[in-house]
Amino acid sequence: AERPSRCADAGKLEVSFEFFPPKSPESEVALWTSISRLLPLCPSFVSVTYGAGGTTRERTHQTVARLVRETDVPPAAHLTCVSATREEIDDVARAYWAEGVRHIVALRGDPPAGIGTHYEPHPGGYAYAADLVAGLKKVADFEISVAAYPEGHPENGSVDTDIEVLKRKVDAGATRAITQFFFDNDIYERYVERVRRAGINVPVVPGIAPVHSFKAIAGFAEKAGASVPSWLAQRFEGLENDAATRQLVAAAVAAEQVLDLVDRGVTDFHFYTMNRADLVYAACHMLGLRPKTDEAA
Ligand code: FAD
Repeated sequence: AERPSRCADAGKLEVSFEFFPPKSPESEVALWTSISRLLPLCPSFVSVTYGAGGTTRERTHQTVARLVRETDVPPAAHLTCVSATREEIDDVARAYWAEGVRHIVALRGDPPAGIGTHYEPHPGGYAYAADLVAGLKKVADFEISVAAYPEGHPENGSVDTDIEVLKRKVDAGATRAITQFFFDNDIYERYVERVRRAGINVPVVPGIAPVHSFKAIAGFAEKAGASVPSWLAQRFEGLENDAATRQLVAAAVAAEQVLDLVDRGVTDFHFYTMNRADLVYAACHMLGLRPKTDEAA
């Protein structure tokens, strides 16, 4: 996808931002306020998630369509295999292509009842993300990103299995892996080394989750099979009723993580924004990114 002209000289670091589709008029306003704040940082793309069980198909589509209409950033639409036939998914993909969307984040997804419930492929559907990638490539020449799990996917917890599955997704046509979030950069670095040894050469972009709420992130992490180091818990200890300090600590934690990744040679970052701009903006600022406006270009 083409970068907006004002972003032509964006630096050597690439960032992307992930949002979820809003559920209410109020959350829609909050989302677009965040998007307006983050877009001048020239992300290489912004992605919009697809609710568990395919529940947000319409809202995902509306959000992506508005990005196409009102912004110049390349959008990426998340798409999952659950609760739909191949024909239905191909139709969604065809509609995206017709609207100018060139990038899909292709996922298996989780059962409608949520993570932890046994997954059964839809009869007549794509069974796994690798099948979806292959199917999408037949619909059109999409750029396709897929998920990767430095600590293994929670259904099996095996990094070796995850790497085999990632290899299948890349062989089917994916050109970027985006990782589940993690807090221990050693885990990410070891994972990437193993991915390279397996002969997988696509970028493995670290997924960065700023800690808006330690309690919430610890809950997500448990479901996602991501570990939460004890030092992270200690940093937020005693701040339950002190939102201002929590925010400062969260900004410091995110800055520390991304700057350490830069020291380790990482050049691309994907931020799980949770539709909130502040911590992501601060982390990007620490990475050296500055807003670019049309007037400045
Ligand atoms: P896959 O790569 O298909 O793997 C899923 C599991 O199945 C793994 O345990 C794997 O080992 C196993 N497996 C793979 N192939 C086979 C096979 N042929 N036979 C048997 N087992 C197999 N979820 C959403 O609902 N909406 C989103 O928008 C969304 N966005 C995400 C974005 C990122 C960056 C990440 C990391 C995750 C996202 N998820 C999203 C969550 C994701 O859908 C779940 O983690 C899901 O459980 C796995 O999806 P996957 O694409 O990794 O699946």
